[in-house]
This record gives sequence, C-alpha cells and structure tokens, in this order.
Amino acid sequence: MPTVKTIDDIDLNGKRVFVRVDFNVPLDADGSVTDDTRINAALPTIKKLHEQGAKIILASHLGRPKGERVDSMSLSPVLPVLSEKLGLPVLFLNDCVGKEVEDALDGLQNGQIALLENLRFHKGETENDSTFAQKLASLADVFVNDAFGTAHRAHASTYGVAELLPVKVSGYLIAKELEFLGQKTASPDRPFTVILGGAKVSDKIMVIDSLLDKADVIIIGGAMAYTFALANGKKVGDSLSEPDKVELAKSALQKAKEKGVRFLLPVDTLSTNALDFDAKTLGESKVFEGDIEDGWEGVDIGPKTTALYAEEVAKAQTVLWNGPMGVFEIPDSSKGTFAIAKAVADGDAVSIIGGGDSVKAINQSGYSNAVSFMSTGGGASLEFLEGKDLPGVSILDRK
Ligand code: AMP
Repeated sequence: MPTVKTIDDIDLNGKRVFVRVDFNVPLDADGSVTDDTRINAALPTIKKLHEQGAKIILASHLGRPKGERVDSMSLSPVLPVLSEKLGLPVLFLNDCVGKEVEDALDGLQNGQIALLENLRFHKGETENDSTFAQKLASLADVFVNDAFGTAHRAHASTYGVAELLPVKVSGYLIAKELEFLGQKTASPDRPFTVILGGAKVSDKIMVIDSLLDKADVIIIGGAMAYTFALANGKKVGDSLSEPDKVELAKSALQKAKEKGVRFLLPVDTLSTNALDFDAKTLGESKVFEGDIEDGWEGVDIGPKTTALYAEEVAKAQTVLWNGPMGVFEIPDSSKGTFAIAKAVADGDAVSIIGGGDSVKAINQSGYSNAVSFMSTGGGASLEFLEGKDLPGVSILDRK
C-alpha cells in the first residue's frame, strides 16, 4: 500500500496552507456545538501548522445546505470552541471564496489561522466544479486533507483543489486512519479477528469479501447474521433479513471455507415479540438456539454466542470491529454489543473500531479509552475497508 506524504514531509513556513478539515459538528437549537469530537480530532494538525509558521486556512462543510447560504448551518459556532481549544485567535470569514476572502487572507501572517464559511453554501463544492475549485486553489500554495469522513467524495475541497495545487499532503488525522484501517489490517499481528454487525449484509458484503483475504476469524452479529442463517437453511421468524442477498451470503461462506477463515455465526439469539424503537422497549423476550419462531424477531446475540465471541476476541492480536451485535439503542437488546465492547477493551490486541455505530457503541459503553483507534469515518471507513481508492487520499502526493 503506497504511503502518502504528510505535513511532516514538507516545508510549511510562510506557506499559505488550505486545510480541509471535518467540522461537520452537531449544533443545538441555539446554534451551540453539542459534540466537539471532530474539532478535537483536527487540533494536532492545526497546532503543527501553527508551530511551523504556516498561514492556515481552514475549510469544512457543515450539514447539507445544498448550495445555498443557510444561517443555521454557518460554521461560525465552531469559532469560539476552536479558538479556546487552541488558545489562539482565529479569524472567521463570511464566505469561502471571493474578493473579500482573498483580501482578508492577504493580511494573514505566519502562524495565523482563518476559518472559512461553510463550503457547501456553494453548489460548486459537491459538484466539484472546476471554477469553484480554481477559486479555492487561488487562496493557497499547499493542500492538506485532514477530513477522513469526506475522503470518499471527489468534491472541490477534497479533490478539485488538490488537482490544482503543486503540493498536497495529509494531516495527522488521515495519516492515522490510513495507518490503522490500512497498514495494520494489511499486515496484522495474528490472529486477526474481524467483528462485523449492523443492519444489512448488502451494506457490508464488499467489506466481508475484502477482509476474507486478510482475516483469520470473522465474527458475525447484528441483523446481518439472519441473512447468513437463511443461507444455512435456518428459519429467522420475523427478524430483519435480506432474502435477496442469500446467494451473496452463500458465496461469502464458500469463500471463507476455501480460504480457511473461521466464519462464526450466532449459536443463539435474543428475540422479542414486540420491538418499539421510539419508546426503546421490547415486549416479551426469548432466546432461540437455531431456528427463530414466527412472530419473534432477533434483536441481539444470545448469552452463549456472547461468551463464545468474547473468548475469540480475547485470543486475537488484532481486532477490527464494525457494526453493533444487536439493536443496541434499546437497553434490553444492548448487552451483546456492550459485552463485545468490553471484550475488545479488555484484550491486549491492537483494536480498531471501524467507524459509524460501533464508535457510538464503544463511547456509550465507557471503554473508548481502552481501544487503540476509533475511525472518524462512516461511509469512508467502509469504502476504504472494501479496498476502494478514496479520491481525497489517492490525489495526495506519495512518499
Ligand atoms: P449499521 O449502520 O449497518 O452498522 O447498522 C446499525 C444498526 O443496525 C443499528 O441501528 C442497530 O439497531 C441495527 N441492528 C443491529 N442488530 C439488529 C437486529 N437484530 N435487528 C434490527 N436492527 C439491528
């Protein structure tokens, strides 16, 4: 796997550096930032650029304003949070392109930081419009991508601008994503155990296929398991499943056999006769071993499966986890997911949480400090694990 250059590999002093960050943070009704995880994730890169005397131009999207200025999606609420965390003043610009922006940036001194307004206030951003990309590129000498969550999109700020600038490298956040999702899974310490869960086989079949070439053990949980159960001729009652994906599931099982990968499916399933997602309640519950009866739907791995999976995780030297083991949003069907979170945290393997709901689950379980790495990408993490090129990464300079 080719390694991309990072901000450590280039001269930054006095350079105008366009940094694509991910400040797509949640805001409350008053417009205050309610979760600063993504701002924290960008700090190491910004601090390094500041120390090196770069003129720092931060750019991000927030929400989906669809090419129009939408006040509730302004990046201005990020400013006080960012400035306080850095202990430095940050200049906020009311737009991301145009004469006023250019003039303000002309006054930027070495080490100073400016934050541009939401890139997606312009249609050209998501369309990767060449004129818009040209305007962004005219602001800078160097492109730094540190927004992993949008690296799978070829937008003006993740791709078009990079095409136009002579120097394009990754920040520390993307470098870390590539190290853990890339290098550490390509040449893992073994046994390498992959835990996959979540709602659908169709979302993750490509990930399964790609990981079957790398893993020693693949553990399946979540509703995905029921499509595999169908593939094995079992009954799944009213569980969420994808009968039209049974053939895909069968080929994955066949590939596992050919490759000698141990492919583990649940041996028991916690099921309910009434699930109310809004009220976060289950009706009666029952554990089935083998077939699930009609009128019941699987909502979590059962106790025997949980114990077996935890044992497997304890033996691993590298663990990659993507997707919950059950409907973890409901307390009564969250035990399997949280037990796996504990097993991952307790083990001494390199532990990689592959984005999306598994990050939410590990945060809720309180074990997030005990894992080696949590990906900041959802769709981007999955596409990367599928082995696809991410445009926002493949455009960067190679070492
Ligand atoms: P994903 O985005 O594919 O990782 O799926 C996450 C979602 O899968 C969560 O919202 C879970 O509630 C859901 N999920 C996991 N297990 C089940 C299940 N047995 N039945 C229905 N939904 C499930």
